[in-house]
Amino acid sequence: MATPSIHNKKHAKSQAAASKMPSQGELFLVATPIGNLGDITLRALETLKSADTIACEDTRTSGFLLKHYAISVPLVPLHAHNEAGASERIIEKMKGGENVALISDAGTPLISDPGARLVKAAIEAGIRVTPIPGASALLSALTVAGLPTDTFFFAGFLPGKSTERKELLLWLKTIPTTLVFYEAPHRLTETLAALGAALGDRSAAVARELTKLHEECKRNSLSALTAYYTATPPKGECVIVVEGTKAMAVSDAEIDAALREKLQTGSLREAVDVVTEHSRWARSDVYARALALKKEQA
Ligand code: SAM
Repeated sequence: MATPSIHNKKHAKSQAAASKMPSQGELFLVATPIGNLGDITLRALETLKSADTIACEDTRTSGFLLKHYAISVPLVPLHAHNEAGASERIIEKMKGGENVALISDAGTPLISDPGARLVKAAIEAGIRVTPIPGASALLSALTVAGLPTDTFFFAGFLPGKSTERKELLLWLKTIPTTLVFYEAPHRLTETLAALGAALGDRSAAVARELTKLHEECKRNSLSALTAYYTATPPKGECVIVVEGTKAMAVSDAEIDAALREKLQTGSLREAVDVVTEHSRWARSDVYARALALKKEQA
């Protein structure tokens, strides 16, 4: 099966050779399997075979995949720690007429994986960039989670720094679409607990070892999933999918009215808890409003 863009490129190359004009190569972003080696498209295989160079994160991991498909094309490393320099070298290769395929260790390159800098540089250099779509843990997990799929927010890995994580979670709490997170198995329980504490005890799913022998998708509340994985420490890679907030977007005046009503019968803390739960406001903001109202009433 032919890959038209590469074949066109070869035709363009021979035309350029005839006219002694250098022709630029192209960049192909090729998705590879996330576990099951059968999950690779015919077009991905054809593109990898026809490439002059394959840029990959870990040459040993990709070497294994390419050997499985009897593909013998030179590999160059492009990973988080060398992306700037490697991108420059790869751009020079493409300027010289080489077709380069970018792959990552698993799934779709650039999705929580390196490559964004290379793509930007290629676009700036006028090099054609072509996606060769395929597997991604993000969409595979979203589709089996059993939560709304019409709109969703992909949050990737939560930041490691606690202040950044806290700030992001405060914002994510207000988003009404399904939320998707990537996580490593040794941090899964801690992250599920942090999500429950920040977002409330929402419905969620953990999709683990997708496309592999021990694939599973556990669907439950965040608290039940936290308890389950505390008792059964997970192995393998996981994606966490959480339902979006059902709370209404409310105005300042509506928050004040709800707080005034609750403050008449309950404590400041109770009022803040109830109003926070039923609004998309952060608890700290509701607390500040409640304090101001209490002072007004005094
Ligand atoms: N580029 C990849 C993609 O398109 O899905 C993601 C790479 S990111 C560095 C790795 C994360 O993806 C893992 O920590 C996990 O959250 C998720 N992941 C990758 N493979 C998975 C699998 N087979 N099952 C569940 N999650 C997976």
